[in-house]
Amino acid sequence: MTREPRVVIIGAGIAGIATAVTLQRAGFGDFTILEKGSDVGGVWHWNRYPGLTCDVPSQLYQFSFAPKPDWSGLFAPGAEIQRYLRDVVDGCGLGDRLLLNTEVVSATFSGTDWRVTTSGGVELEADFVIAATGVLHHPFTPDIPGLDTFAGDVVHTARWHDDTVTDGRRIAVIGTGSTGVQVVSALQPGAARISHLVRSPQWVMWAPMGLRQPAAVGRLLRKRPALHRKLYAVFLWGSGILADIATRPSWRRRLVQTYARWSLRTQVRNPELRDRLTPDYQPLCKRQVVSSSYYRAIRADNAEVVTAPIDRVTPRGIALSDGREIDVDLLVLATGFHTHNYMRPMRIRGRDGISLDDAWAKGPRAYRMTAIPGFPNLFTVLGPNSPTGSISLQYSSELTARYITQWLRRFRDGEVDTVEVTEEATAKFNDDAGQALGPTVWNTGCNSWYLTDEGNVDLWPYDRKTMTAMLSRPDYRDFHVQKGGGL
Ligand code: NAP
Repeated sequence: MTREPRVVIIGAGIAGIATAVTLQRAGFGDFTILEKGSDVGGVWHWNRYPGLTCDVPSQLYQFSFAPKPDWSGLFAPGAEIQRYLRDVVDGCGLGDRLLLNTEVVSATFSGTDWRVTTSGGVELEADFVIAATGVLHHPFTPDIPGLDTFAGDVVHTARWHDDTVTDGRRIAVIGTGSTGVQVVSALQPGAARISHLVRSPQWVMWAPMGLRQPAAVGRLLRKRPALHRKLYAVFLWGSGILADIATRPSWRRRLVQTYARWSLRTQVRNPELRDRLTPDYQPLCKRQVVSSSYYRAIRADNAEVVTAPIDRVTPRGIALSDGREIDVDLLVLATGFHTHNYMRPMRIRGRDGISLDDAWAKGPRAYRMTAIPGFPNLFTVLGPNSPTGSISLQYSSELTARYITQWLRRFRDGEVDTVEVTEEATAKFNDDAGQALGPTVWNTGCNSWYLTDEGNVDLWPYDRKTMTAMLSRPDYRDFHVQKGGGL
């Protein structure tokens, strides 16, 4: 007996697109991608703040199945990445499988299949649900007293309005992550004055972010796909070094950390400013910030770094705890995301009515990033413990999607009706991962978005080879499968 699995993929960002194309290539045709945004791209659709650039080299920041030879630079701007993702969707003919402006509000397992409900009241039935809902998804707005009394404009970087006027204005930027650093660098030249409010300074490593890719390189790579594949493989191999540096203490880690310190020392000569910009934790502990322009921007005459804590926002600007008040026309919140929400606030109910909120009461947890006990036939792509700090997200998404297709194949062949990871296998994976996260640089004493509310590092602690081995073939001992009514 063969039957075509009905699949709902939630999210059309990198993970969702990788999943859809992988399913398509594996011969599965009955899938629907539900995307709440008005276009594909996930974070690359929602994020459009000035200066948005990916600090991962573009020749790596692409799918293995959709090589793009002609990126404009070594590090592509956000809009170019979004266009690339749109081109992949169009080029792979996914348009008629994609529903935009369609937000999923709930997904409920009936005992045999899933009922997925959208905010428009549409209900879809599916044999499998694949949540590719992303990590940098729900903007975090800090609870600063008086924020709602501010008389000027307030914008969160992840919800930038294209008509926001920045030139000639007094701008304050709160937040010192990759976003804050990029937006300050971009807004400083045109601003009347820019104040960067720095609660915790970040190590900012210099890299040639503005380096253009000559058009001839694009032409050559287009003509020689084998060479292009080799280049991609080299970048992938290079990213393995990054994973090693992050996960294991070594001279390589110390070397990179020395480079981060050197980047600060050589670009900020003023000892007082340098002192205020020096973090009290190791480089690489937080998501590393990379820039070629930030230190120059904040040294400009119209710029200042403010390290005094914010006391409150007033109608005119920001009152600091040292008694000073900064007058502000535009307040930019580069304050990041609720990074551990994953599929929530969707209401997800699995076997016996168990809710995801209850299952994750002590923090998000999955088996090998993709399966959750209590939730049969539901998989995540870039779920908990995903390697957002170390390994290519495109590689990880494609690998996970191929893993899932193996379950879809078994369903198609009538070997399983439902599949659910065991609690024991999930607990063992999480215990092992928790131990392996011990010596990682992310666990060296800083407060970062990698940490859950419970203080656990929510990242992948292993190298790419281990990830590939874990997700190449399902270990059937780790799953309950149901066939024809019996577990
Ligand atoms: P983030 O790294 O989480 O940074 C948030 C910032 O907001 C932190 O500096 C935080 O300070 C500050 N903050 C939060 N609440 C505050 C408050 N009440 N008062 C003062 N400061 C406050 O967020 P992000 O910069 O948006 O970056 C998130 C991730 O997106 C990055 O780590 C990266 O993975 C990704 N990203 C990538 C690129 C790229 O080029 N590839 C570009 C942008 C973003 P504390 O540190 O003190 O908490």
